Amino acid sequence: MLVKDSGICVGRKEYSETSQIATIFTRHHGKIRGIAKGARRTKSKFGGGIELLSRGQIVFSPGRGKGLVTLTEWTAQENYLGIRRDLQQLYRAYYLAELIDLFTEEQDRHEQLYDFFCQGLAGLSSGRGWEEFLVFQVRLLREVGLSPQLSNCGRCGKGSGGRAAGYISFSEGGILCRGCAREVLEKERISPAGLEILRKLSSHAARSPANEPTYKQGEASGAGLEDEEGRQGQKVLSYWVRAALNREPKTAYLLR
Ligand SMILES: [Zn+2]
Repeated sequence: MLVKDSGICVGRKEYSETSQIATIFTRHHGKIRGIAKGARRTKSKFGGGIELLSRGQIVFSPGRGKGLVTLTEWTAQENYLGIRRDLQQLYRAYYLAELIDLFTEEQDRHEQLYDFFCQGLAGLSSGRGWEEFLVFQVRLLREVGLSPQLSNCGRCGKGSGGRAAGYISFSEGGILCRGCAREVLEKERISPAGLEILRKLSSHAARSPANEPTYKQGEASGAGLEDEEGRQGQKVLSYWVRAALNREPKTAYLLR
């Protein structure tokens, strides 16, 4: 049985002189890992190969259960050229692709997240760097049930009333009140500005793709982040991701 879906390539490696193994985040089947035999031949049904961070139509044979599937056809539809022309956006896109690979399971569908990813890549491609980059991370964490608790103390549930202790803890699920901050060892500093940015991103992230305004290139948009705000937000999100995975994503060094 052959299945057709749309997908974005989030990982690839050469398998032999002519074949490749690609990880595709599909709209209806979640993440799949498949072998594309003969993909690297110019006259293949893969248009010469599946490029990382390109979106297209994929045909594959799902096989039984999880594991490697057989890819039979790929038609690229969008290569997000803007990303490939700007190293910083490209590195951010690599990082997001790795996060999808790390945080989602094979053949677990995440349709809305897929739509958000298309939107995020389009945003990075047109130069809306920080906000697309950060909002997508917040959306991904929410989708996989790992959102930080930002209004009340993650440990005792007490409202911070705007007087948070300045710490966030993955093991406790969110920000800490003063009392809990003294007792919890696994924690990271979060500045008032960092917390405010994260809250802003979370409310922005709650919008569905259909309700998103469409932005033109260079236009200020919803989350509207300055460079310094973006760095503050990323610092906290990087800590959260690292704590959730218990290690640093491989592409994290590209962000420095
Ligand atoms: Zn507390």
